[in-house]
Amino acid sequence: MSYTGGYLGKLLRVDLTTRSVRTEAIDPRLVSLLLGGRGLAAKYYYDEIPASVGALEEANKLFFFTGPLTGLPLPSTTKFQLATRSPETRRYLCSNCGGDFGPRLKMAGFDALIVEGQAADWTYLTITDGKVAFGDAGPWRGYSSTRTLEELKAAMGGGKIGALSIGPAGERLVRLSYINVDSRAFGRGGPGAVMGSKKLKGIAVRGTGKIPLADPVRAAEIQKAAVADLKVSRANHTKFGTPQYLEVINELGCMPTRNFQTAYFEGMSKIDAHAMYEHYLEKNYACYHCSVACGKTCVVREGPYAGARARTEFETIGLLGPNCGIDDFGAIIKANQLCDELGLDTISAGCAVGLAMELFERGLITTADTAGIEARFGRPEALHGLIELIAARQGIGDLLAEGMSGVREAHPEWSPYILDVKGMPPAAYDPRGFHGNGLTYGTSTRGACHNVGGWTIRAELQSGKYDRFALQGKGPLVKGLQDNRAYVDSLGMCTVVRGAVGFSDDPKGDIMKAATGYDFMPELMGIGERIYSLERVILNREGVRRKDDLLPERFTKEKLPDGPTKGRILTPQMYDVMLDEYYQVRGWDDQGVPTGETLRRLRVQELIA
Ligand code: SF4
Repeated sequence: MSYTGGYLGKLLRVDLTTRSVRTEAIDPRLVSLLLGGRGLAAKYYYDEIPASVGALEEANKLFFFTGPLTGLPLPSTTKFQLATRSPETRRYLCSNCGGDFGPRLKMAGFDALIVEGQAADWTYLTITDGKVAFGDAGPWRGYSSTRTLEELKAAMGGGKIGALSIGPAGERLVRLSYINVDSRAFGRGGPGAVMGSKKLKGIAVRGTGKIPLADPVRAAEIQKAAVADLKVSRANHTKFGTPQYLEVINELGCMPTRNFQTAYFEGMSKIDAHAMYEHYLEKNYACYHCSVACGKTCVVREGPYAGARARTEFETIGLLGPNCGIDDFGAIIKANQLCDELGLDTISAGCAVGLAMELFERGLITTADTAGIEARFGRPEALHGLIELIAARQGIGDLLAEGMSGVREAHPEWSPYILDVKGMPPAAYDPRGFHGNGLTYGTSTRGACHNVGGWTIRAELQSGKYDRFALQGKGPLVKGLQDNRAYVDSLGMCTVVRGAVGFSDDPKGDIMKAATGYDFMPELMGIGERIYSLERVILNREGVRRKDDLLPERFTKEKLPDGPTKGRILTPQMYDVMLDEYYQVRGWDDQGVPTGETLRRLRVQELIA
């Protein structure tokens, strides 16, 4: 097999302990089975991270993998992938991110970067066209993730670079820490703490090489047609970004409110996309080679948070807003900015703060735990103060910094108020209002995630094929979405634009041929299924079984008390109907372990032999 475009065929491996660097060839057979990005990252993780390795131990590694489309002159080819052992879930983590870093890494000559070992002192890395240097990040300790990006750029002498960094939370091994990538994020699962454990404050890369492209003429035609399509099909993304979904999700009775105690937020009109657009939007932001520009930089122009600035999006607003009872958009922007600077994932932070507020209102924690903060729902001071406590590991913040698994381990009696699957708290959708979304949370290969697990919302609302409260049929729906996402994440293209170039669950078109010289299209869904099953094998090796695919108590034991979904619940019996169907269509046994026949059919057996 030989490709004429998309791949460089080699990876860069950096050992922080020995300060050594080497390049390695990537086996083309692996590329043909797993594409790149998420698929290859999972394979390297499988080979190199045994189940016994702790997330914060020296033996854990960071596997950054681009895809064949990353960096090419095609739509939104910004994405690259991270695999590592998650500090938050204590299991395999895959994460997808935009920004410039992935494209620049390829221009520097590498499909992938693996960082291993542990530096003796705080370090940053620079990669310039294949030349790696180790810098002293000691003076940057305590710097925000955003300031660290600026320092990295300055250290590289400016110009076109990609950079990633952590903030103080990552330095303190807070398990909700993110990695800031050119102001996009490897958000969920706490990968910032893995960098913190390695004393790695940031990495910058500059590449001046050309990424091979099989058919530049055809690629230019595809790009032009896609841009025209996206101008119409993604017009709402360009105007409102992902906040466009806030109002509709609330009206459907699915918006997490006050730690998921209800799913309808009475203050939504103050914080929805229209409020953002009219009062707070400063400018749009686009990742590398993206015409959609769904990023929304928002600024507070007056009032107590004047000057606060952040790139807000749906999940962030939902979980720092309604989930904490906050209806002040300025306060949400301020909280978003705090998370960015301190280096916290906004979804996990919003869930942690929501939990703390409920515990406070129930009298289970007091001002003695919160450094004097009246940690009630709806108080911006409490939202901001609790975020700072988590990042500083002070008071209740030290416990929340251990993630939902850590909180439950310390206080099993708080389980009715703790929301997570496999240690990862949910995104901003209440599955009592979209039952397929419950299966998404349960079977995602990284915890309660709507991306990796399959975003069922559009299908459950718009296709006319699925009733959102039905149980039958959700297994195949979720499997299809997961397999689709697994191959798209492995390509290096943003999921928002995939429809414009034929990356559906019935892939069509010639974009892969134009990019790589090889027509992957007929194989893509099968590759996605292979990747998802390989990830499941990894999770099985780390102890995951059916019991770990279940939903938290609140979703299964408490009926929604009010709003459009009043009385809705997803009982264990209801959930089992969906889970059984899902395991069956996946070819997994009743404990969620792929059968030998499934592994052979998908050729996963060859990857794990
Ligand atoms: S659509 Fe949004 S997330 Fe996707 S590449 Fe463009 S700006 Fe980035």
